[in-house]
Amino acid sequence: MAHRVTLIPGDGIGPELAEATTRVLDATGIGFEWESVQAGEATIATTGSPLPDNVLESVARNKVALKGPITTPVGAGFRSANVTLRQKLGLYANLRPARSMRGLDTRYENVDLVIVRENTEDLYAGIEHMVGPDAAESIKIITRAASERIARFAFEYAVANGRHKVTAVHKANIMKLSDGLFLESCRTIAADYTGRIEFEDRIVDNMCMQLVQKPELYDVLVLPNLYGDIVSDLCAGLVGGLGVAPGANIGPDAAVFEPVHGSAPKYAGMDKANPTAMILSGALMLRHMGYPEHATRLEAAVRDVIAEGVATTYDLGGSTGTAGFADAVIARLGTAGVAG
Ligand code: NAD
Repeated sequence: MAHRVTLIPGDGIGPELAEATTRVLDATGIGFEWESVQAGEATIATTGSPLPDNVLESVARNKVALKGPITTPVGAGFRSANVTLRQKLGLYANLRPARSMRGLDTRYENVDLVIVRENTEDLYAGIEHMVGPDAAESIKIITRAASERIARFAFEYAVANGRHKVTAVHKANIMKLSDGLFLESCRTIAADYTGRIEFEDRIVDNMCMQLVQKPELYDVLVLPNLYGDIVSDLCAGLVGGLGVAPGANIGPDAAVFEPVHGSAPKYAGMDKANPTAMILSGALMLRHMGYPEHATRLEAAVRDVIAEGVATTYDLGGSTGTAGFADAVIARLGTAGVAG
């Protein structure tokens, strides 16, 4: 029986990446029925909302979604549909692995980091107001419940995936109450894993410096929402850029898989953008759905195509288009490493 999965193609380069990714996922032989729903710029024009109710209903019903990027106006206009989607569906954990691949021109060869970002609160709670005409206030919310929940997720991920260390990232030297509570919550949860998973913490500015100098010292990082967003782009840069960085938003009732990158409007409709990040997000989805061998096989196919360097997109120094890269991955799936 085919698995019904919600597909949100999104804006900008999203639709062409979604097309490439669903073709690749169909080629795994698992069997998907894609329930395609629109969100973003197109639905602002037709329904007045970037995230119509039928999108939330579809994800809640199918429990799994594959999503392209959605454009968010900067400075004014609608609240981010991405943030609203994560908050409304309780997708509290944002998982963003950053792993080196052969064939990419990067500063390091053996980066293997996993970012676990809290997805529901912090400055993304969206509580902002003007204080008179010339000052603005943005409220940072950190709760013990959400901090302990994300720390538990990071430790459980470490246990389940053979990882050895969790590093909590914060600025508790300055924000002694909010980031202090985040750190204290991580320490509380870490105590349950003593002897199994190592625990340490880093101040976020030092963490950034350490990551660009010696990323090999780190393993799983757990961060509040804003630092998690910034540090995951930094880590994407360490392993070849946004074009190859996948992500997952996971909650108790549903999960949405999407690339780290945005809608890159200047490349929309040009068959130019790299679909790797969305395809690898699809591999995370396969693992989540209970198909770990298929996921490993798909990741191996992507890695092989990139290592070979013949059918890569512009950002990796090649001249193949979005669809052509997907074709190369599909051709490779038959011969890639692990049997499915
Ligand atoms: P972006 O990630 O869209 O693009 C930044 C640059 O990265 C691009 O100009 C391009 O050079 C490169 N890039 C990104 N994806 C690529 C790909 N697949 N292949 C090759 N190169 C790629 O970031 P931005 O310009 O800051 O944001 C554009 C829009 O996307 C904004 O409206 C932003 O709010 C939105 N956004 C959405 C999400 C999401 O839907 N989850 C995430 C981030 C940004």
